[in-house]
Amino acid sequence: MAAAVTDDVPFDKTFDLVPDQPKEVAPGVRAVVANNPGPFTFKGTMSYILGRGKVAIVDPGPDDDAHVASLLDAVRGETVTHIFVTHTHRDHSPAVPKIKAATGAEVFAEGPHRASRPIHIGDTRRLDASGDMDFRPDTALKDGDTVSGDGWTMEAITTPGHCANHMAYAYKEGDLLFAGDHVMAWSTTIVAPPDGAMSDYMASLEKLARRPEPIYLPGHGAPVRDAQRYVQFLIRHRQGREASILHRLGKGEADVPTIVKAVYIGLDPRLVGAAGLSTLAHLEDLVARGVVATDGPPSISGRYRLTERPRGTG
Ligand SMILES: [Zn+2]
Repeated sequence: MAAAVTDDVPFDKTFDLVPDQPKEVAPGVRAVVANNPGPFTFKGTMSYILGRGKVAIVDPGPDDDAHVASLLDAVRGETVTHIFVTHTHRDHSPAVPKIKAATGAEVFAEGPHRASRPIHIGDTRRLDASGDMDFRPDTALKDGDTVSGDGWTMEAITTPGHCANHMAYAYKEGDLLFAGDHVMAWSTTIVAPPDGAMSDYMASLEKLARRPEPIYLPGHGAPVRDAQRYVQFLIRHRQGREASILHRLGKGEADVPTIVKAVYIGLDPRLVGAAGLSTLAHLEDLVARGVVATDGPPSISGRYRLTERPRGTG
């Protein structure tokens, strides 16, 4: 969500990359930012080039010919052996076919785009709009799988929450982690059903909190420094958001738009829809835990109430 509504997370909004100009952002890692800035993408999608000579590309980015050309330009004279995809939102994976066609690299990812939970009426359009439905990896990775190239080893870490097939990759020799959109320094992550699920997202944060890598290279914006501490801020931020939603429900506010208005003060109007979906993600999680009740499956137009059960027993 927008930083304007969160003062509890120490965001880093610095950014000094120029679109489509490669720059070394960590030893052995170059970044090329696509020219697709926006309220959800910050300055644009980050594509990363790992290694020298025989290299891997992490997240080829949107289907934008200028970006594809500059990525290929950045690796001129080198061989691209591997392509890794963190997740299949339209700003991350649609350039894969063009990069693969130009390089012959093998494509690694968790799997095709899919929802985080069974689809309800009204969900399909949203899933199709955000997802790269044509994407298929050459090799599907499972949690803990490792892939080695020339001078580097990547460990695949399933991190669902933002997207069901979200995968982070630990670059073992560099002691850093490609975090995709799961953890970013500039903003919190959109968790929007049916692509995303709050219970998965929280579990994935807890999973990263137990890992040693001190630096994350995210799908948007500058590197995350002091990553373990930052992940703890993100966990506490969501717990605070959940507490605010429960507080509003306790006051008798029962629908998503009313709760969004009360909880997200000073929200960028372009993000009101996303805030509604994020609130829905919390409500889905609370309903699953038996803390909140609604009629039928949780929906953006549903009405919600606290159950009689004491909190935290779900
Ligand atoms: Zn993204």
